[in-house]
Amino acid sequence: MTPPAASHNILSDDQQRRILARYGDRTPESRKAHERATRVLPGGVSRNIVHHGPYPLFIESGRGAHLTDVDNNDYLDFIGNHTAMIAGNCAPEVLAAVEEQLTRGTAWAAASRAEAELAEQIVERLPSVERVRFTASGSEAAMLGVRVARAFTGRSLVAKFEGGYHGLSEFAMVSVAPDPAKAGPPKAPVGVAANGIPAAVRDGVVILPFNDPAAVESIVQRHAADLAAIVVEPVMGAGGVIPPASDFLGFLRRLTQQHGILLVFDEVITMRLSYGGAQGLFGVVPDLTLLGKIIGGGYPIGAVAGRADIMEMFNPTRPDAVLLSGTFHANPVALAAGMATLRLATAEALDRLNERGQRMMCEVETILEAARTPLRVTSVGSLFNLHATDAPVTDYRSSARSNKEMMKWLRLALLNEGVMLSPRGMGCLSLPMTDADLRSFTAALERALSAVGAASPAAAVAE
Ligand code: PLP
Repeated sequence: MTPPAASHNILSDDQQRRILARYGDRTPESRKAHERATRVLPGGVSRNIVHHGPYPLFIESGRGAHLTDVDNNDYLDFIGNHTAMIAGNCAPEVLAAVEEQLTRGTAWAAASRAEAELAEQIVERLPSVERVRFTASGSEAAMLGVRVARAFTGRSLVAKFEGGYHGLSEFAMVSVAPDPAKAGPPKAPVGVAANGIPAAVRDGVVILPFNDPAAVESIVQRHAADLAAIVVEPVMGAGGVIPPASDFLGFLRRLTQQHGILLVFDEVITMRLSYGGAQGLFGVVPDLTLLGKIIGGGYPIGAVAGRADIMEMFNPTRPDAVLLSGTFHANPVALAAGMATLRLATAEALDRLNERGQRMMCEVETILEAARTPLRVTSVGSLFNLHATDAPVTDYRSSARSNKEMMKWLRLALLNEGVMLSPRGMGCLSLPMTDADLRSFTAALERALSAVGAASPAAAVAE
């Protein structure tokens, strides 16, 4: 077996061998499944994000906060399909709603009453939202959110933050994880397009540095007359769970209002942060909101939501309507699962989940402070991200300093200890997690740190 990537002597050969041997011993069926998959799927996967060395883990089933792999190993699911599964796997209420819908059909070429029901629930929760349109993914929501912003303002440029992930549409694939050496100065980043994205698309996207109001203001002023929208995650999610600096979102609200630019919050991940999403938590009201993940309760969904006058651009009775009409948009099964999930995600349940997350983070911080290798955690409520760096993480450039090699080994060591995080160290809590699950996470983290040689000698001895 080969190591996950070229080693830069972060771990000794012996440590690497031990982690790989343990992974290999635990997961022979995943290895076989991967070998078969590589014959028909590039890299043996359908989603690049689930690919990792030496070969990806194959999951057989999930229940509550746990996953079982094809070798019958148990994992604490601390990523919940990239934060989507807030009610856990196979929550009985969600299963019942899905089963009830399945008996009536999966999707048809007509409207269903469930659309307005879930839309009403979203309008009731999110302070800025008057109208909703459902898609089948967050990527489509971002694509159509930007399109409707252009149609409404009559402007063509769109701004996003360096390191921000908004799915796979063309504009969103600019400066997602650029090589800092090619991305210009931190205060004036240049757009770096992903492979396959034409330069013309890149030129239509203005790149902003997160948490730097002065730099944002000067860049936005330069393009203000042509800017349709600024798209921002209130808390950078896949970019490293990076919270906004105090009043940064309020500053964006004032700046966009001043220039007639639409402020678009991507709450695909952050909707879980309070009953009113991140906009409720931080008290900033955007013009449009992009949704996904938890509003589909584990099934494919996305939504564009926001002010009635902007959303009216989707109204099919307009001759100039923005087309939003996918075969699987507003899929009744996803709507049923989303509604059942949101019923579980009450204000009290979300507040408690955040509070439990923050309590666990206190312990994680103590463990990481004692580590011999620079490690830190960023977090907001029930979301967190481990970073292998000794400098504060406040934007893309500081998160890009995280030692990727260390994170790969730590993540593999955590899998060996029965905990699943995202490959870049992102994690989240889910409603069915027990206090014992949270304790198991911190204990597994300590053991994984020992395996990668990052635990303090005292912790290693205490084990
Ligand atoms: N926006 C954010 C903030 C996301 O994290 C994601 C997915 O991870 C998306 C958009 C895209 O959503 P989907 O994967 O459903 O296309």
